[in-house]
This record gives sequence, structure tokens and C-alpha cells, in this order.
Amino acid sequence: RAKEKGRNTYEVYTPSFDLLSSELLDLENRLHRALELGEFMLTYQPKVNIKTGEIKGMEALLRWNHPELGLVSPAKFIPIAEETGLIMPIGEWVLKTACRQNQAWIESGLSPMPVAVNLSVRQFQQPNLVKKIAQVLEETGLEARYLTLEITETAAMLDVDFTRKLLRELEKMGVNIALDDFGTGYSSLSYLKQFPLHTLKIDRSFVKDLTVEPADIAIARAVIALGHGLHLNVVAEGVETVEQLDCLRMLDCEEIQGYFFSHPLSPQEATQLLQRMCLQQQVPI
Ligand code: C2E
Ligand code: MG
Ligand code: MG
Ligand code: MG
Repeated sequence: RAKEKGRNTYEVYTPSFDLLSSELLDLENRLHRALELGEFMLTYQPKVNIKTGEIKGMEALLRWNHPELGLVSPAKFIPIAEETGLIMPIGEWVLKTACRQNQAWIESGLSPMPVAVNLSVRQFQQPNLVKKIAQVLEETGLEARYLTLEITETAAMLDVDFTRKLLRELEKMGVNIALDDFGTGYSSLSYLKQFPLHTLKIDRSFVKDLTVEPADIAIARAVIALGHGLHLNVVAEGVETVEQLDCLRMLDCEEIQGYFFSHPLSPQEATQLLQRMCLQQQVPI
């Protein structure tokens, strides 16, 4: 499938069959060595302001280039990495690689913008997370304001006291926080105002049928109003069509991410896009 679709296909992976338990075990064994074998790569998906056409950030999305299976989806291996604890070294690699890349972009004179890194539940709950992040920023030279951490709504709500404390420490450092997959978890809205968030990301599941499903319009409208009321930036995930884009415009959403504007890009492609943007200041949308 990856070949059929040509370039910009870093989101494509995995054979269509389900994994047998022996294959799962094999995957787990391979995952242990994937880091040292250099089989991971990051792709970057831009986030775009729909009013100005400016790129406002890049989200790092992990890919595992398995020699036999090809590109394996993070949805497949992150749960295994979580269970085995491998998520710690892998997550650290992601953080370092994304920060280093962003620092290189900034140093080469491109418009500075945050790079976003996804954190899984276990990473989020690791005791020395704040220290780890400070270390990576120090090591790569990236300013904290050019790093965004994306945590899912579900992860944030597991232990709200813990989350509140942790997010406040991160905010003190100057890091941005985005609440990912918003609308799929069970937020008590009273907690939202206690979290120092910068961004709400409306989950793709509400965007998918936006133009045909009145209930999804109602949900999107409510989330956007909620975000604005709390002075948060609202990003719609998974925007694939111009109709969805028009609908989000009408709803006054300011940023989008999705295949309509761009698939996740290789570092080289992402660099080229940022260079083009720097020349034009904005991209046609
Ligand atoms: P996410 O953070 O919500 O990322 C959005 C996912 O939607 C990505 O899938 C992206 O490729 C995909 N996507 C973007 N635009 C569209 C679109 O228009 N249509 C459709 N159908 N899909 C779109 P991906 O890269 O497979 O990642 C899946 C999830 O895996 C992510 O969801 C995130 O939770 C997790 N993940 C990815 N990279 C990392 C990582 O480095 N560390 C951790 N802990 N989790 C990661
Ligand atoms: Mg994300
Ligand atoms: Mg998401
Ligand atoms: Mg999602």
C-alpha cells in the first residue's frame, strides 16, 4: 500500500493481518533492539492556521521501520512498549530527536515554532519527567517555549491532582501543553480550568463526519467555544477534505492538522516545506 500511494506515506504501515501471539512476541523482541539498530524515525505533521495559512507548529510522529514488516504503526507498538517499559528509552529518543531537529530548524533561520511531542500514559507518570525534559532542553539548546507536550485527555484525567501538579511544573519551565484526542475521554470540565493548558486538540472522530453528522457539528462547536472561553488554542485533527475545512472555518476554529494540508512528512520534506513557507510567509490553503 505504501508504494501505491507514493510519497508522503509515512502514515501507512503494517500488513492487514492481525498479529499471532508468536508474532507479537517477535515484535516485542525486535522492539528491544530497534533503538540500537536505528530503526526508528520521526515524521513531522504541520499544524496550520486556517485564517492566515501560516504553519504554527510541527508534531513529531514516531515510525518504526521494521526490516520485514515495513513501517509499523505506533498504534501497534506503543502499547507493547508501554507494557514492557521500553517506552522510556524510546520516548527519550523521540524527545531528544524532535528537540534537536527543531533547534536545527531554528538555527538555520527558519521561523521558530514549537515542535510537539506525544507522551504516553507511562511516560507522563514517570517520576523524573520534569528533570528529563529540562535535561533534553539543556542538551539540545532548544528554548522551552519551542516545545509542546501532547498528552491525551484520558491520560490527564487518570489522576487529576498529579496532572495538575505536573503540568504546573512544566508550565513554570515554559513548555506548552496540548490536550490531545479531546472529546474521547471523560473530562470533568471543572478540572480543565485548573490545568495550565495552551491547546485543545479536537479528536479526529468528531471531524470525520463533520459535514454529514449534525451531532458532530454540535460537539465541535461546543469544544471550540469551550476552548476559546478558556483562552486556549483549538486545533482540529484529521482534516481530510475542503468541506471539513469550510465547516471548521464557519465554526471559528483557528488551526487544523490533517491530510488535507499535509501528511506526516520525513525530516527532509518537512524542512523543504518550512523553507518554502519562509519564502512566502504563508502557504495557500
Ligand atoms: P495522535 O497524537 O492523535 O496523532 C494523530 C494521528 O492521526 C497520527 O497517527 C497521524 O498520522 C494521523 N493523522 C493525521 N492526519 C490525519 C488525517 O487527515 N486522517 C487520518 N485518518 N489520520 C490522520 P499515527 O502517526 O499513526 O499516530 C497514532 C498515535 O500514536 C498518535 O495519535 C499518538 O497518540 C501515538 N504516537 C505517535 N507518535 C508517538 C510518540 O513518539 N510517542 C508516543 N508516546 N506516542 C506516539
Ligand atoms: Mg498528538
Ligand atoms: Mg490526537
Ligand atoms: Mg487522535
